[in-house]
Amino acid sequence: MSNESEYVFSLLSLPRQPGATLSIDEHLSVPNDTGVNMARVHTEDKLEVHFLLSSVNEGVYVSGSVQGKVDAQCARCLRDFSYEETFDVHELVFYPDKRAVLVEQGDEDAKEAYEIIDDHIDIEPLIRDACVLALPFTPLCSPDCLGLCSECGIPFDELDEDHHHDEKHTDEEDIFSALERQLREEEES
Ligand SMILES: [Zn+2]
Ligand SMILES: [Zn+2]
Repeated sequence: MSNESEYVFSLLSLPRQPGATLSIDEHLSVPNDTGVNMARVHTEDKLEVHFLLSSVNEGVYVSGSVQGKVDAQCARCLRDFSYEETFDVHELVFYPDKRAVLVEQGDEDAKEAYEIIDDHIDIEPLIRDACVLALPFTPLCSPDCLGLCSECGIPFDELDEDHHHDEKHTDEEDIFSALERQLREEEES
């Protein structure tokens, strides 16, 4: 494995002895595609990564946190907003031989698991997956965001409390147009 990636760390200084540990404290770039529909990790600043790697029988257990900024769009009022977030990481990265045994035994999780390659660990997928899993699918700029007026599209918190639009038609007209539609549909069928 190439050592050029900023996410790849040598494990040569981590004895393969359960209980041995190694710390990674780095400022790293945001991996590509670290986002979901309406939220993504802000790519212009570095991520603050604090990982503790512990040797276990099956591989290396990685625990720690990734801190960064999230750029999101509110699902209700569609305004952009940003906030600081800490993403927790708790993942087992397998030795290839240990993983191969589990895969052979039909372990579905092991098929998807991360793997140590040539005594190096690539933490890029761990960072990306931890962020993507924790990003909100329906971000809200505030928990009680009122959203947009469906008539004029202006956020309710920028409008007067008694904001409203005059009804376009009366109930009578509604009934009339519904009847008209029904008649048309009957004609067409
Ligand atoms: Zn909002
Ligand atoms: Zn309106």
